Amino acid sequence: MSAKLKIIFSFFILFGAVLLLAKVDQTFNLYNAPSILIAAGVIGLIFSLLATNKESSLLCRIGLHKYKRGQRDSEVPAMYVYTCERCGKKKKAASVV
Ligand SMILES: [Zn+2]
Repeated sequence: MSAKLKIIFSFFILFGAVLLLAKVDQTFNLYNAPSILIAAGVIGLIFSLLATNKESSLLCRIGLHKYKRGQRDSEVPAMYVYTCERCGKKKKAASVV
């Protein structure tokens, strides 16, 4: 259900962007419909993410994690383990530093 909503809202954004790029509002009077579509898509997408994701921080729920570098990965020495300061989500990434 929520996965479908995300697809629908993503489609809103995509469709609005296509309408903007195609400049259809210069041919047809759409009353800013492309911008409204994009805005509605972005707002809807954020709300569906807030409703489905369970992270404690609102920023984490929309995917904006605040990663902090931890220790090296035990299996791959070039990789570091990053932990989000807010929700504790972990990810591994290579680092050149
Ligand atoms: Zn987080």
